[in-house]
Amino acid sequence: MTYLSHDAKVQQLIQQIVQARQDKSGIKLHKGAVSHFVPNPYEGKSNKRHIRTQGLNELLSVDTGQRLAVVEPGITFANLVQATLKHSLIPYTVPELKGITVGGAVSGCSLESMSYRYGGFHDRCLEYEVVSGRGEVILCSRQNNRDLFEMIHGSYGTLGFISKITMELLPAKPYVHMHYHTFRTLADFWAFLKERCEKSDYDFVDAIVHAPDCLVVCLGQMVETAPYTTAYDWLRVFYKSTSTRQEEYLTTYDYFFRYDTECHWLSRTVPMLESWPMRLLVGKFVLGSSNMIRWSKRLSPLLRMKKRPDVVVDVFIPARRLEEFFGWYTETFRYWPLWIVPYRAPQHYAWISDEQQQRMGELFLIDCAIYGKPNGEEGNDYSELLERKVMELGGIKTLISRNHYDAETFWQIYSKPRYLAAKERLDPDHLFPDLYEKFQPSHYQPTGNAHVGIKIS
Ligand SMILES: Cc1cc2nc3c(=O)[nH]c(=O)nc-3n(C[C@H](O)[C@H](O)[C@H](O)COP(=O)(O)OP(=O)(O)OC[C@H]3O[C@@H](n4cnc5c(N)ncnc54)[C@H](O)[C@@H]3O)c2cc1C
Repeated sequence: MTYLSHDAKVQQLIQQIVQARQDKSGIKLHKGAVSHFVPNPYEGKSNKRHIRTQGLNELLSVDTGQRLAVVEPGITFANLVQATLKHSLIPYTVPELKGITVGGAVSGCSLESMSYRYGGFHDRCLEYEVVSGRGEVILCSRQNNRDLFEMIHGSYGTLGFISKITMELLPAKPYVHMHYHTFRTLADFWAFLKERCEKSDYDFVDAIVHAPDCLVVCLGQMVETAPYTTAYDWLRVFYKSTSTRQEEYLTTYDYFFRYDTECHWLSRTVPMLESWPMRLLVGKFVLGSSNMIRWSKRLSPLLRMKKRPDVVVDVFIPARRLEEFFGWYTETFRYWPLWIVPYRAPQHYAWISDEQQQRMGELFLIDCAIYGKPNGEEGNDYSELLERKVMELGGIKTLISRNHYDAETFWQIYSKPRYLAAKERLDPDHLFPDLYEKFQPSHYQPTGNAHVGIKIS
């Protein structure tokens, strides 16, 4: 295999973009790893030009003195963490699935159990190199092209292609000592969780609600030594264990990807997959988030037999409204587990409209992740019900699955003026799809058309 420098890979990308501009066919990007977007059963085949970006997946440098890494966007967090841990360093935020890539984490709003201290993954990124829709290479940071820098986060691949990222790194220890605290009421759970976030006395904080009367706060502290370690990479099921264990030790690498084997708990949608005999037999082939997502994409046409896709989505609820959301969720959704990740954004994000920022009113958010709620009931589209409730509470629904908002409502949440200004600078000819166009509800209907413009897979 020929080795290509980063600049040579970017030149290849630019050539492909220039060709796509000439033939006006639209483009489809292949980043060479699974995409953490819920498959759309109605997405048709397209005639778009296929652009390959999978070579852009390397760690370019680690500066241990300044604690900085420079990476290409297609590197997965599993590979990145493995490499930085050799220097006793880690990214400030490590999304829990091994196949999530750094470019996808910036564009798609990734966060995790360090987010209560440090915000989203992008909040510790210092510079993006972006290839625009005109094939120009643009550097943006808080000092240089700040308006573009701030709009790249949450743009879901609609402004340009992030081709290089400079990020800060955090000192790490080899093990994580976990403590699990179980509560019987939301009030006790919420008081304890809030206190942990205020005191900031643990490195990692998240929670799993197994049932309205079984709410578990999971706390992790990095440590130098461990008397034993538990691994959840094959026969053991992490999310279930949290309701029975009080403490344990994991390697830091295994801690980050503790939800990966089950893809949180999506494995339980496959009959018997949580049983030992089945895991011994087929576990190697089907367990692990990348395997599961590949299977679900292959089976995506079968999903058309379902009335609607299951609900798989993260919603960010202003912390002061969590109890209200939880009451509604318990009555309406009745779907467990619910994953809870506290998230303190360092400032209001530019892509959120001014009026939505006002509705949110605070920067302390709670990510409630609903992974796998069946959605076939006559008369109730739970994905749509959730979307309406989130808006009413001043929250944000991520765009990793179906969007139901009409254009007017959508642009009450997302900042149209700031988005259009960034679009004009980075992609004035609309080679990449517009944000609303990419997620418009009609794509999820039997007669809907495939995405227009770019789709990363
Ligand atoms: C089942 C499931 C579980 C999840 N679990 C977690 C979790 O545990 N923690 C967490 O933080 N998040 C989680 N997520 C959300 C996830 O962080 C986002 O979906 C993230 O965007 C996925 O990144 P990816 O690398 O898979 O990119 P993709 O899914 O391929 O792309 C995501 C978006 O980013 C754009 N994009 C990707 N690369 C680039 C680039 N280089 N330049 C410009 N645009 C680009 C794409 O166009 C797309 O719109 C989950 C999502 C699902 C569906």
